[in-house]
Formats: sequence, structure tokens, C-alpha cells
Amino acid sequence: MPETTTLPNASILGYPRLGRRRELKRAVESYWKGATGEAELRETARELRAATRSRLVELGLPVAGGAVPETFSFYDQVLDATLALGAIPRRFADVAASAASDLTTYFALARGDDSHQPLEMTKWFDTNYHYSVPEIDEGTPFAVNADALVGQLAEAREQGIESRPVLVGPVTYLLLAKASDEAGAGFRPIDRLDEAVAVYAQLLAALAEAGATWVQLDEPALVSDSLAVPREQTLELVERAYTALGSAARRPRILLSAPYGDAAPALVRLGALPVEAVQADLVRGALPQGALASGELARAFEGTQLVAGVVDGRNVWRTDLRAAFALLTRLQQAGIDTVVGTSNSLQHVPHDVADESQLDPRLVSWLAFADQKVEQVAILARGLSDGAAAIESELAAVDRALADRAAAPGVRDARVRARVASVSDADRRRAPERERREAQRPLGIPQLATTTIGSFPQTAEIRKARSAFSRGEIDQSGYDGFLREEIERVIRLQEEIGLDVLVHGEAERNDMVQYFAEHLDGFAVTEHGWVQSYGTRATRPSLLWGDVSRPAPITVAWSAYAQSLTARPVKGMLTGPVTILAWSFVRDDQPLGDTAAQVALALRDEIDDLVGAGIGIVQVDEPALRELLPLDADRQAAYLEWSVGAFRLATGGAAPEVQIHTHLCYSEFGEIIEAVDGLDADVTSIEAARSRMDVVEPLGAHGYSRGIGPGVYDIHSPRVPSVDEQAELIRIAAARIPGEQLWVNPDCGLKTRGYEETVASLTNLVLAAQVVRADE
Ligand code: GLN
Ligand code: ZN
Repeated sequence: MPETTTLPNASILGYPRLGRRRELKRAVESYWKGATGEAELRETARELRAATRSRLVELGLPVAGGAVPETFSFYDQVLDATLALGAIPRRFADVAASAASDLTTYFALARGDDSHQPLEMTKWFDTNYHYSVPEIDEGTPFAVNADALVGQLAEAREQGIESRPVLVGPVTYLLLAKASDEAGAGFRPIDRLDEAVAVYAQLLAALAEAGATWVQLDEPALVSDSLAVPREQTLELVERAYTALGSAARRPRILLSAPYGDAAPALVRLGALPVEAVQADLVRGALPQGALASGELARAFEGTQLVAGVVDGRNVWRTDLRAAFALLTRLQQAGIDTVVGTSNSLQHVPHDVADESQLDPRLVSWLAFADQKVEQVAILARGLSDGAAAIESELAAVDRALADRAAAPGVRDARVRARVASVSDADRRRAPERERREAQRPLGIPQLATTTIGSFPQTAEIRKARSAFSRGEIDQSGYDGFLREEIERVIRLQEEIGLDVLVHGEAERNDMVQYFAEHLDGFAVTEHGWVQSYGTRATRPSLLWGDVSRPAPITVAWSAYAQSLTARPVKGMLTGPVTILAWSFVRDDQPLGDTAAQVALALRDEIDDLVGAGIGIVQVDEPALRELLPLDADRQAAYLEWSVGAFRLATGGAAPEVQIHTHLCYSEFGEIIEAVDGLDADVTSIEAARSRMDVVEPLGAHGYSRGIGPGVYDIHSPRVPSVDEQAELIRIAAARIPGEQLWVNPDCGLKTRGYEETVASLTNLVLAAQVVRADE
């Protein structure tokens, strides 16, 4: 074991990476455009890293002992690991060979180029962050590249800070990888674990050489039941990998982290590994109570520090410091060397509540963004060193804030609660399917009906008008007039293209969740609360702080106006309750299912009003239905029950003649087909083009008997799919599910597309449907 100091008793697993004002986003995007060079980009990155380290120290993390983590990334932490391992997919070998620098290769992997598709992107555990999926096969090279990590260590030292390099661990890295197209049948990336571990050992040696006292290896795979191997086997793989890494001759001390879920079942075994610290998420997860009481946990952790993730890295609320401190004290009294930490990297929360000048100060007093969370960690650590009395005033301040929050008007609204309490199963049940099908005939929907998913391109003019309106440069009536013109244009365009079911285009929406949050009670929106969603992209999740209700109709005027312009049916367009929760910061003082029911009731009223205004078809989007599926298999059934229940509560008031659609994307839904069917929508549109209709088969096999619109047009790129190509996909689907169930639509909304490719692609889509109709 290396002879260095133990970890100080305060640390965090990671910090937001784009910068307080998204400086890195601007710098990287300007580099991509060629407006600035690599040297300038590297300089901005260096400044950002320096500012982050200083800030963490200012907020209370010790300068010595490896408490400050190095979690900078130009794009993605999994991609960083790909470079550190030298695991450049063979299809990029030409890029790597001719690249001017590592950074050229790095961004080519992330974004592709003229002759290379980028690495696929997918969701990082159950978060809304997306990582670049490694592609591994038998021949993928592994060769250590410690330059980036070593460089950061030296920068920190110059600042007088002893920092801790951070890297995705080998087991998680390989379990998140996919077998490349060149891999042999049956090959799994995890088959190469021993080779990868050997490279990690070299990396550790390089870091030790460069003076690192600690290194952090993240192994969230430990808490997931959704990976290629069962969780018990993941634990065995981690044991194998870290037994090897632990015995490396020259290495820094290792902090092995298990964020994002419940590591309790594995904790005793993790404590016994030859590493010097183990982190556990104690917000989503718990302590193994039996092992704690019996002393087994303390024995396993003899000589190993436990980083107790008591401060929530996924949400924005002030930590109940008194409860957290009680838990920490119990660990300390059990004889465990305890470090105060976060449940996971703070990369999933915004920087600083102090940046928010528009929020209600009362709400602000309940909140903690990344900087406040670091301060909380430091306070708790001081309590552990100096005793409870030393932090009593801070604990009392939090007690007061929490009491204030619990009693504040709007947090509990008696009318909302009474209404939720009176919900019965009948409210979640629509008329039987056959009755609905008959009742919906007057809608006149043809076979292979064509439609889109809702949004049309958000043009520069739309964004300009929106920001002029928000700055007060145009007034409400001017803005409304602009939007009405936009709607009319989109309606005429769809008529010309020949689509069967039209949409109003969603020009009024900045974002499919924030728009609803701005119009519902119980939500607040931030000014600077950006959170990285992938690469240089960030979203600004809304804050769901109180009981949710709908003060007035939200979308009705726009949809009704659109319908007034055309004889064809116009779909009303709503975001579903689960997706609204998934892409907001949600209250943590009641079960999520209760919050979902409140949102569902607000949407139920909206549907009622849409129908009252003459809208016959309403789509309720649930792209995040799969995203919130718990990593822990034991928790999945309960989740699916409340999430499907919320959708059904939102839509259950619709009369049989109203056609309810839903839309799903961003995930593989094969695993939760039963839930998809359970939504009981009359029509489900679902992303399918890239997988060539993969989802249709399992739906058919499951006996799904209502409408299905597997996407035939991949909207993720500007490429225009031809008539033949789309017809081919329709035929593939038609071979697996009866033609009368099939709809024809793109994979998702068109808001990120330009008009030129949109018109061309939709024209081809309509032609493709005609071609296949003529097959019969
Ligand atoms: N109706 C939304 C749109 O078309 C759906 C977006 C989504 O699924 N992410 O933009
Ligand atoms: Zn979508």
C-alpha cells in the first residue's frame, strides 16, 4: 500500500464541467467552427480547471490529501476513459494515425466526420446525461495514455493543490461498451477485462510517478441491474479487477466509488478489497444495517475509509444536515474511518444558487446547488472532527429552512391533495378498445396514416421573437400574432405535403418540459441552472417545489387556432407526467408517484379543455418513460405501476371518440413492452428507424393491438431519407404487425432540423406511405 496520507474527511465525487456561464461550451463550439485554435481552447480549459479547484478549496475542501477531484472533461468522461485506455475503435484508426493531436481524434469519436459515424450516445445510468458508447472488439487496441490526467495533476500542484485524478473504472467502462460491428459472434467487451485492468495498472503507475496520492475509479455498474451481466457477477468482476489493481507495485491510493444507487448488498465485500477508500451512495442507497450492527461492516472497512455519500448529487434541495450527521456519527461510532461525501458527481446539478436573482428568496433558502452542496459536505466534516456542538448553529439553520419549507404556502395545497385522494381505479380506465375504435371512426383516419411527432423546425426567427418577447421588446399581442402566423404557415405546409393528421408545430415552446412548468403552479424556472446533457449541450431543468395545479388552460388556444385553419384533424400536443418529472428537479419530500398524480390531473384537465375546444386527437409524449426505470430490479415494478398509472390518470378522462396518442424515444423500450402496452394509448409512435423497426416485433409478440407508428425517418441528422428507404421500413413493420394498426411518422419531433430537409423528408414519407398502400 502506498505510504501517503488518508483522505481528508470532506470530499466530493465531481463538479459541473461546462463552467458557471458555460464557458467551455462556447470555447469548444468556437473551436469546432474553426473560429479559434486548439491552443486557445486548451487555455480556456486550463483556466476553467484552475477556477474549479480554487472554488472547491474556497468552499471548504482541503488543499492537501486528494480531496479535490479532477473531473474536467472536454466532452464526456467515458470518452476520456476511451482515450486514456487508447481504445480507439478500429474504424477510427485512420483518423488517429493522421490526427494533428489527441483532441482531433477525441472530437472525431464524439461527433464523427465526413467519413465516420460518431460513437453512439446513450443515457448514463438513470440520469439525463449521455455518454459516448465505447466500441470494443477482439482487436481494439489498448495502450495507456496518461497525458491528460498527469497534466492536470501538475497544474493543480502549481496552484498549491494536491488533487485527485478521476476515471471511469474498468468494469463499468467495459459493461457500458458495445461490441463493435467487427466483433465476432458472441464477443462481449467485458471479455477483455483482464487486458483492460493491465492498462489501468499502467495508468496508476504513471499517476503515482507524477505524484498522485489518490485516484478515484468510478464503478456505478455495481448498483445496476440493467447491464449485460447480473449484478452479482458485476461484483465478482469488480473483485477480480481491484484485487489485481490493489496489488499493483506502484500506484496511488484508490478510492472506488459506487454512485447512483444502492450498494448496500455489496458494501462488506467492497470494504474488504485491497483499496484504500470506498464510496457509497447513501441517498438512493442505504447502509447494510445488519452488518453495521454486528460489526461486520467495521471489520471489512478496517484500514479502508468509507466515503459516505450523504449529500444528494442528483437534486437541488438543502440537505437535512441533522439527519446526515446522525448517520455519519453512527458510522464513526462503529469505528469506521468516515469521509463526508456526495451520492455521486455534482455534474448533474447547477453551479450556484447565488446566481439566481429572479427566484423567490423563500424558495432559494430551501435550495442547494453544487457550491452549496460542497459547503454542506464541509460543515458535516467539521462536525465529525470537532464534535456536534461545533456545527450546531448550521444544523439549526437547516432545521429552520426545512420547517419553513414544510409549512410554506403552495407546498401543500389542500385542494390538490383532496383531489388526488379521491382518485379511483376507474379514473385510470378508458372505454374498452373495441368501443373506442368504433367511436373514433368519424375521425376518418386512413390506413397507413401519416403524421409527425409535433414540433416543426425552431427557426432563428422563432428564437428571435421569443427572446424579444422575454426582453419586453415586443408585447403579448405582437408575439401572439407572430405565433399565429407561424402556425398558419406550418398548417398550410402540412396540407401541401399531404399529411393526414396535422400538428400546430410547437413554435410557442422553448422546451417541452419548461413550457409546461412555466404554466403550472408548483414549479419555478431558473436563469442559470444549466446542467450538461451531453457534450456541449445543457438543459435547464425546472424546479418542482410545490403541489402542482393548472391555473388556466395552457395549449388550448394554439391547438384550437390550428384546427380552425384546416378540415384535417389537428393533434393536441402535451408532455406527459413522467417526462415532466424526469426532466425537472423534483421535490424530495413525498413519493414521486404522488407528485406524478398531481401533474397527471393537471394534464387531464388540459385534455378535457382541448376536447371541449374541438380537438379530437391528443398526443401525450412520454420519451422519458424508460429513463426513470430504477437501476435496481427490485424497485422496477413499483415504478412502472405509478408511472403507467400517472399516464392513464392523465388520459383516462378522454371519451371513447377521443384518440389518445403517445410518443416514446431516446431509449430501448423492448425491456418494458408490457408497460408501453399498459399505457393503453390508441396510437403509440416510437423511435425505430435506426434500429430498422426492432421494436415492432416484440410489440406484436406481446399482443399489442392498437395503433403503432414506428419512426421511418431518423430525424437526428439532416440526411433526407428517400421514398424507397422509408417504404422499405414501412414494409418491414407491416410484415410484423397488421397493416391496419400501422401509422407512418418520423422518429421524433423536427425542432432541431432545418426546413429544407424537413420538407424533402416529409414529402418522401407521404409518398412512401402511398407506395406501400398501393402494394395491396
Ligand atoms: N412533441 C415533441 C416534439 O415533437 C416530442 C419531443 C420528444 O419526444 N423529445 O418535439
Ligand atoms: Zn421523441
